[in-house]
Amino acid sequence: MTPSGPGTGWIEVVTGPMFSGKSEELIRLLRRAAIAKKRLQVFKPAMDNRFSESEVVSHSKWRMASEAVERAEDIVKRLDPRTEIVGIDEAQFFDDDLPKVCSHLANLGKRVIVAGLDMDYQGVPFGPMPGLLALAEKVHKITAICTQCGEPASYTQRLTTSEKQVVVGAGEVYEARCRRCHEPEGGEQAEDSWLFPPDGVEES
Ligand SMILES: [Zn+2]
Repeated sequence: MTPSGPGTGWIEVVTGPMFSGKSEELIRLLRRAAIAKKRLQVFKPAMDNRFSESEVVSHSKWRMASEAVERAEDIVKRLDPRTEIVGIDEAQFFDDDLPKVCSHLANLGKRVIVAGLDMDYQGVPFGPMPGLLALAEKVHKITAICTQCGEPASYTQRLTTSEKQVVVGAGEVYEARCRRCHEPEGGEQAEDSWLFPPDGVEES
């Protein structure tokens, strides 16, 4: 059940690994809103320039006009007061102010639809996504298909050796994997480092 009615804002998040169709789902939801004659604005982080600076483009080449912004707070600055629905793609690349910004927009009565990766290639919660998922009224957590075994996949496997967390994706560099087939780089220590302290470290 989705809240509705004039003046009622809310946050919904579309999340999952790469190749799960997050951008397609975002564009599908925004197209429905456009057909309903709602006023839309779509934002994405300025750094995601893999296909287009002025459009949200999915891997299957669906596209929708968007505005590239440097920081989450820029979304508020660029907001047209008449906008009813705010779409945000590649949310994981925004700074930690994004959950606060989305709450502010929802409190203003906007419907905020956000798409982003929930985990990075190590399986670690990605950037502002955990806070956003906690605040959202509605979460669409979708899966891809594991390239190794064909089961539903919630993880993104990186196939390069770069040390950077942020490597903007392409089909030949990443693939979707299930929990069993996902291999975090650096082995088990990397897999668990965000959950458990290293051996020999006492929690105070
Ligand atoms: Zn698998």
